Amino acid sequence: MPDSRMMNKNGMVSSIQTRIRTDPFKNNYDLVGKELGRGKFAVVKKCFEKKTGKEHAAKFLRKRRKGEDCRMDIINEIAVLESAKSNPYVVSLHEVYETTSEIILVLECAAGGEIFNQCVADNDEAFTEQDVIRLARQILMGVACLHHNNVVHLDLKPQNILLTSARPLGDIRIVDFGLSRRMDNMKEVREIVGTPEYVAPEVLNYEPISTATDMWSIGVLTYVMLTGESPFQGSNKQETFLNISQVNVDYTQDVFEGVSSLAIDFIKSLLDKTPRKRATAEECLKHPWLSGHPPPHPHLNSSHLPSLDEPETSQSESDPEPESPA
Ligand code: ADP
Ligand code: MG
Repeated sequence: MPDSRMMNKNGMVSSIQTRIRTDPFKNNYDLVGKELGRGKFAVVKKCFEKKTGKEHAAKFLRKRRKGEDCRMDIINEIAVLESAKSNPYVVSLHEVYETTSEIILVLECAAGGEIFNQCVADNDEAFTEQDVIRLARQILMGVACLHHNNVVHLDLKPQNILLTSARPLGDIRIVDFGLSRRMDNMKEVREIVGTPEYVAPEVLNYEPISTATDMWSIGVLTYVMLTGESPFQGSNKQETFLNISQVNVDYTQDVFEGVSSLAIDFIKSLLDKTPRKRATAEECLKHPWLSGHPPPHPHLNSSHLPSLDEPETSQSESDPEPESPA
């Protein structure tokens, strides 16, 4: 499928299979309750499809941002979601609507919210190491599948990893493919910058981006899930970027009290300044910290990854906005 798609040199995909509907979204959906979340240029709201009564999450994306036409970024986001439709850990795309000012992605609703909430929660609500092991395996299976299909996410962080339910703790869904790119046909991508605390050193140095860039973010993510602390966060952007480029990480017992040494070893295998030295998603799944447990999803393990390139029809995904380094 990537061959038949149009891609520009930045790894953005410009053709999609999903039909973009222009009839009013509100004819077919009822918006209910409060916002599920928001980012820089998107608001996500819960809705019910009138025809089926089924719950969904509608992501409203503005086409114009800072005076620029960003429609192609949204099309890329849809294309990536389409290509990941057989990936059980990526949120599924149901429908797409377009108005004069917005594109609306109707997504599977991940009712448990962001894992961020439990990362910063008090002890009784925070993840246990056993929870983190199960969730990390799911994140890695989802990301292994994306990487297998040459897709890099480039904005993996606790706000973009959602849960199907919070209590009891459900399964993860990866969202927000607004910065995602295809690695095939990507000459060299340097200009994309995600969220400061989660961004890899090569991004700050304008060096080429690769699947290893996501692996750094998974190292940061795992650190945060286990400790509730963000490893590189400084008191300002400058300080954060300095901490990242020096790989200044606290692995002491002050932070990791009650966490296994295997977990720390796992994080160290990802927070390496040299991208090619970082573990890949498949290698991570074989790390002793994670490999002692049965895969939570029997039909998706590292030896049998579904192909996202199978010729099928449509489905899709989401968006955010890069922040430039200071
Ligand atoms: P942005 O590109 O603006 O960051 P996201 O796709 O990350 O947009 O969505 C913003 C927030 O909305 C997420 O962090 C999450 O809290 C919520 N959200 C997004 N998609 C869903 C979904 N499918 N189900 C439930 N909540 C969602
Ligand atoms: Mg987001």
